[in-house]
Amino acid sequence: MPTSETVLRTLLAVLLCLLPAGCGEADGFPEGSTMARIRDRGVLIVGIKFDQPMFGYKDPAGGRIIGFDAEMARLVAKDLTGSERNIRFVETVSRERENFLAQQVVDLVIATYSITQPRAERVTFTDPYYYAGQDVLVRSGDTRIDELSDLDGKTVCTATGSTSVDNLRAEVPGAELAIVDGYSVCVPALLAGRVDAVSTDDTILLGLQAQHPNALRLVGKPFGREPYGMGVRRQDTVFRDHLNGLIARWLADGQWDRAYRDTIGVSGATSDQSKPAQR
Ligand code: GLU
Repeated sequence: MPTSETVLRTLLAVLLCLLPAGCGEADGFPEGSTMARIRDRGVLIVGIKFDQPMFGYKDPAGGRIIGFDAEMARLVAKDLTGSERNIRFVETVSRERENFLAQQVVDLVIATYSITQPRAERVTFTDPYYYAGQDVLVRSGDTRIDELSDLDGKTVCTATGSTSVDNLRAEVPGAELAIVDGYSVCVPALLAGRVDAVSTDDTILLGLQAQHPNALRLVGKPFGREPYGMGVRRQDTVFRDHLNGLIARWLADGQWDRAYRDTIGVSGATSDQSKPAQR
């Protein structure tokens, strides 16, 4: 004879199965999924840039990581762990993004990470959460450069492992590239006249220019389109699908707009070209 306790337990289990979350998934995360692992650990580990103002930037004053990518990461942490504070940021330069995912140094990369075919063979991308274009940053007084083609014969600084390198090689094969670890390294070289220009995504350059508003000028003729995706471990489609659901929600419920307004929007830029269509 089943005891009344067993009957109650069985009843409860049956009732739980009727909830949208389903059996054994009290908060909707399937057992064994990356989401459940992060929830159990209680902290989300995110690979992000530390030197790109407005996207991923370590504030020298308080050490807080600020920018649009950081805001996206905090929203993910809140969803998975209940608080945006349960997050650890790991500096991830362009060339390390695939490695850090493969070696499980991070759970997720949110680092101005363009979705490309070759990268998609090593990591799994979400749908785009942001669109950038590539542009050129020069010294304010340098009137020689006003078009992409003016980079022919000039020295252009950019970062290793980025699409910016490939785009420059394709668009201006006559430019001489100075390839460094991060775009912030290019700025002192540009100011000192060791390179003629810096080229990468317009949004990154906007942040670097804002640090030297009088000395540096953005050419302002973006080329190409860079769709930013969040990167997860290869073939972790369950995590990817969960993140896609979150991105779609934020695009619709005003969270995306709030993140933009608080970060890039402060510069006066508008999001017309950058915000993906609602899905
Ligand atoms: N979005 C481009 C890329 O993923 C350039 C910016 C970067 O290096 O993060 O390569």
